[in-house]
Amino acid sequence: DAERRPYRRVVLKLSGEVFGGGAVGVDPDVVAGIAAQITKASKSGVQVAVVVGGGNFFRGAELQRRGMERSRADYMGMLGTVMNCLALQDFLEKEDVETRVQTAITMAQVAEAYIPRKAMRHLEKGRVVIFGAGAGLPYFTTDTVSAQRALEIKADAVLMSKSGVDAVYTADPRIDPNAERLETITFDEVLQRRLQVADQAAFSLCQDNDLPIVVFGAEVEDGISRALCGERIGTLITS
Ligand code: UDP
Repeated sequence: DAERRPYRRVVLKLSGEVFGGGAVGVDPDVVAGIAAQITKASKSGVQVAVVVGGGNFFRGAELQRRGMERSRADYMGMLGTVMNCLALQDFLEKEDVETRVQTAITMAQVAEAYIPRKAMRHLEKGRVVIFGAGAGLPYFTTDTVSAQRALEIKADAVLMSKSGVDAVYTADPRIDPNAERLETITFDEVLQRRLQVADQAAFSLCQDNDLPIVVFGAEVEDGISRALCGERIGTLITS
């Protein structure tokens, strides 16, 4: 049976791709499914903070390639994450889960500002905290933000859900049929084998601060709630 190690507090990174169900924009049915899974974990007592990506709307680097000024394009990317946050908040509240959205760019009518001590207080009260607008800084990614937020709010791990893959492999399983699925791996081994798990900055933050990363598939049946509840799905990366 799968090993379970309950977390006290975790950060779940949901990429924007997950919200769109592969398309641009938000697919409410998909978001409802994610919310139901987070609810299950939250109600079982795990403190859940979510960092939401925005790739289903805009990626700054892509807009830059198409002629836009990078910083402005990145702000568009950050604003996109906030729409995902509001969709997730809506479906969580329909499940009777109390939530707070905190954004790194202040927008008082829509969300609280990112205040880490307040976020921790919400979590202690059983609220799900949803972090939007990335770091509020161009040239950053929400992967990096998920590591930073996890460190600042003292989470036990960062759980990264990925579309299209369900774990870390020794090579790209979509290209190499001999790719081996890894249950656990160390940060050093990831670097030695030149595997790509998260962006460099996120990876360094986790490695330097002994923050475990779990990479798991967004499409795995009940994957989000199982990962949040500490079931060993996907790949665990530790020191
Ligand atoms: N972004 C940014 N700073 C941040 C986080 C995000 O500039 O701190 C911008 C960046 O343009 C990025 C976009 O927001 O491409 C969407 O975020 P990300 O690519 O991390 O979303 P995901 O790939 O997880 O959906």
